[in-house]
Amino acid sequence: MAISSFSSGVSVLDGQERLTAVRDLSILDTPPEAAFDDVVLIAAQVCQASAASIGFLVEGRHWFKARIGFDAVEIPADLSICAYTIQQPGLTVIPDLREHPEFRHNPFVTGDPGLRFYAGIALRDENGFPVGTLTVVDRDARPEGLSGVQERTLLALARSVRREMKLRKAERELAQKTEMLDRLHASSEDCIKVLDLEGRLRFMSEGGCQAMEVETFADIEGCNWLDFWTGPTADDARKAVLRAKTGDTGHFRGFCPTVVGTPKWWDVIVTPIMGSDNKPDGLLAISRDITGLQHAEESLRQSEERLRLAIETTGLGIWDFNTLTGERQWTAEARDLFGFAPDTAITQELVLDRIHPDDRERVAGTAYLDQPGDSLTFTNTFRIVRADNGEERWITSVGHTLVDKYGKPTRKLGIAQDVTHHVVAEEALRASQDDLLRQTAHLQSILATVPDAMVVSDEKWIITSFSATAVKMFGYQPEEIIGTSVKFLMPVPYRDSHEGFMPHYRQTGERRITESGRVAVAQRKDGSTFPMEVHLGEMESGGQRFFTAFIRDLTDRQYTEKRMQELQTELAYMSRLTAMGEMGSTLAHVVNQPLTAITGYLKGCGMILDRMDGEHIPMLRHGIEGAVEEALRAGEVIRQLRAFVARGETDQGVEDLRKLLEEASALALAGAKDKGIKVDFDLPHESPKVLVSRVQIQQVLLNLVRNAMEAMQDVNERNLTIKAEVEDEGAIVRLSVIDTGSGIAPAVQERLFSPFTTTKKTGMGVGLSICRTIIEAHGGKIWAESTPEEGTAFHFTLKAVKEEELAEAAEV
Ligand code: ADP
Repeated sequence: MAISSFSSGVSVLDGQERLTAVRDLSILDTPPEAAFDDVVLIAAQVCQASAASIGFLVEGRHWFKARIGFDAVEIPADLSICAYTIQQPGLTVIPDLREHPEFRHNPFVTGDPGLRFYAGIALRDENGFPVGTLTVVDRDARPEGLSGVQERTLLALARSVRREMKLRKAERELAQKTEMLDRLHASSEDCIKVLDLEGRLRFMSEGGCQAMEVETFADIEGCNWLDFWTGPTADDARKAVLRAKTGDTGHFRGFCPTVVGTPKWWDVIVTPIMGSDNKPDGLLAISRDITGLQHAEESLRQSEERLRLAIETTGLGIWDFNTLTGERQWTAEARDLFGFAPDTAITQELVLDRIHPDDRERVAGTAYLDQPGDSLTFTNTFRIVRADNGEERWITSVGHTLVDKYGKPTRKLGIAQDVTHHVVAEEALRASQDDLLRQTAHLQSILATVPDAMVVSDEKWIITSFSATAVKMFGYQPEEIIGTSVKFLMPVPYRDSHEGFMPHYRQTGERRITESGRVAVAQRKDGSTFPMEVHLGEMESGGQRFFTAFIRDLTDRQYTEKRMQELQTELAYMSRLTAMGEMGSTLAHVVNQPLTAITGYLKGCGMILDRMDGEHIPMLRHGIEGAVEEALRAGEVIRQLRAFVARGETDQGVEDLRKLLEEASALALAGAKDKGIKVDFDLPHESPKVLVSRVQIQQVLLNLVRNAMEAMQDVNERNLTIKAEVEDEGAIVRLSVIDTGSGIAPAVQERLFSPFTTTKKTGMGVGLSICRTIIEAHGGKIWAESTPEEGTAFHFTLKAVKEEELAEAAEV
């Protein structure tokens, strides 16, 4: 069949291409449109045809976009005459279809509507590809064809359809682009704006409105975008607009707050929008909010600055070792620490070589070995010998091993720092701590031995420390008393006065040491009291004030002082009594001799008188007898006086020699220290007992010691030794008082123990004579050994009382 053979003339490829081309037009199966309808109306009228159409051939059908004179929306393509015309260039005119070899059997020719005349022209897309036709048909044949006007009109109409199609495509593309742009605007966080050439806002994307924190664009439409910028950025914005106006792209970064005032940083690009005359007729400004980025950059910059500062101020060196490539990177500071030159190629050997031999193995073991299970971070402090000047320094290095996913080390990264001054300071600290410990131990040993108790309290008088002596003195254990008030160490009436003086002390902030040697009454745990002497000191530690009280128990001292006073009184009395007795005795002795002589002479006179006579003889005899009687009476008085003195009125007892000596020395040696006299006691280990009149022997000792001290007044070396030795298998005790004084003058030596022998201006010269009387009365001996200019030793003996005798006495 002719038609089918014609139909087969339309290649499959053409069909495919046309389909794509028609689809591109987006015209298929769309409703009628006036622009196309007008064209077919004009075509039908101008050509005075019964029907006209604009149709598109695709997928085996001929679909009519516009038609006049018939109703069919589409016809099968193989029945369409246009399938032929579409292949033809220019206008195809068939005057009588019945005569045409191809179409005379076409059903539209042979049957309804019985077409005879046909004129058609291919409609081409913008690429010149035929997609459809503009056709006029008539039921009458037209042997003359179309007139020249009709042909030109059809050609013009075809061009018009083509333009319409092009326009449609352009519109569609524009719509697509607009939609794309709209979506882009909506989805983009950038602030997209269209400005006029003066910078006034003409459009802003939705995302832009959000970014600028404005509800709708209408709120800011027409505002000048340049006014948003202030400071130096305003200038940048103006310059960017100027560049865009000349066809370039302007770019700047600046700070401007949003419409509601949130401060934001923006990165802005301004480009021109070209008009039809290829000159900018608007500007596109795209601003991106880079506040976060700016902050991140700022904080990065700050942390870099801090790191740089840290590196500079601490001299921190950073080293980086790639274990795979063996590449090492050391910062300038790291090199400086080791004294490596900037161009030194650093190797493991070189580094290890700088490490002190004593530390080398240890460092190599941790830094360079990677044993399974090793910690990935390692720290070493070691000594190095600097490469440049050989100086020994301490370095601390902290490293971290980075591993790949198989756990294999790939990199070691770390820092190194010179810690010499830390190490030196630490050593000094350790030394001073040792010192402190030693000093503390020393102080504690002193505090443990001093007889004073030490009680430390805080500002509120709460006890914080209680020494071992305090425990002994007060009977409290530290745990019982620490944390309570010091007032519990005093009995009731004193507690209040204590409370009274403390606040005064705090407020006025008086001197550091107060109350030096204040005597008060203390109370023990068992309630008993004792006299105490308190020395109070203040110290400050850790911003807090503490008081340290040194407390001395005065019980013993007060007893001693009282005892001394008693002794002194006793001795003074006895001294006077003895001196009187001694003088009386001496007087009696001296007077007795003349009395005896007188009696003798008188008796002689009586015998002479017996041989004489005379009246006055009896009277003379009476006188002489009376004188003899009186002389004898005087002698008797003196005898009685001597007997009284000799009686001595002494009460002897068993005395401890050491105690006796100590008491006497305490009295006698008063002021010895001030006179620069060094006193030594040399006593037997076990103190002997002696049967003596304690007061008399102490009187002897007192006398000997005072004489010795007086004898040393004018010499430089002043040593006094008081010595006691047991002799004669414990039967006798020899006491010696030895001085380094002037010695005894030979003249004095002979009459030393005689009464009234003295070399002193105020001396009575009875001291030694009394001593001899007392010692002899005790059954002992007294003597002196002296070398002039060297010194004197006085010795005397006393009878010792043996243990057995003591026991016996006890039994009796
Ligand atoms: P007085 O001390 O009153 O002179 P004493 O009988 O005690 O009387 O002493 C007699 C004298 O013996 C002293 O004046 C002194 O010259 C001498 N004498 C006593 N003891 C010493 C002595 N240790 N060293 C030197 N001379 C002494």
